[in-house]
Amino acid sequence: MTNDYPSFASPLHLPFNRQSLARNFTLSPPDAVPTGEGVWVLRQGASILLAEKNGAFSLPQGDLPPPISGMNRPELPIGLWQGTPCRALSLPSELTIPGLTPVNLLADPPQIAPALLSLGGVAGQILHWQRGSTFCSHCAAPTVPLAHEWGKRCSGCGHLHFPSIHPCIIVLVRRGRELLLTRKEGWPENRYSLVAGFVDFGEAL
Ligand SMILES: [Zn+2]
Repeated sequence: MTNDYPSFASPLHLPFNRQSLARNFTLSPPDAVPTGEGVWVLRQGASILLAEKNGAFSLPQGDLPPPISGMNRPELPIGLWQGTPCRALSLPSELTIPGLTPVNLLADPPQIAPALLSLGGVAGQILHWQRGSTFCSHCAAPTVPLAHEWGKRCSGCGHLHFPSIHPCIIVLVRRGRELLLTRKEGWPENRYSLVAGFVDFGEAL
């Protein structure tokens, strides 16, 4: 297994790091992912379902085996994995799928390479957003995906919903009696903020 972060004892110290995916995965909005045969990120609780051959794990490819194939659950295209269309699907936790092995993403030490570990984590974040944005939080009408980007428009009130960008750090930088503050272009005059950072889908801290 390759550890892309040799200074860390375990990839779990940097969970779900999109940087470790750079050589393998390109995140794209669903309508930008080509149709045709692809690979699957099958999430089941805290696990990802993988194909195993001689101790090596890989993403399932092509037609999904029963009982998944008969479940009619909505799949979500999320990008390209090694140039191949990549789709994510969330499955009920009690389901056993013949031929696929559940691997817990939180196992320590990790059971799979950082890239698969991170892909499973990113897919989980996207599926979580997909589930939670099915209906408008303002008026409860169904939402519809926006073209060419991650976002949805409410079919009732027209409100736009985008994945939450989560604040992860805010700091007070002090030098004697002075404070370091930041400004964003377009802010009203005399408006300043503390130095703060935000995390997008799978972005590294
Ligand atoms: Zn609405």
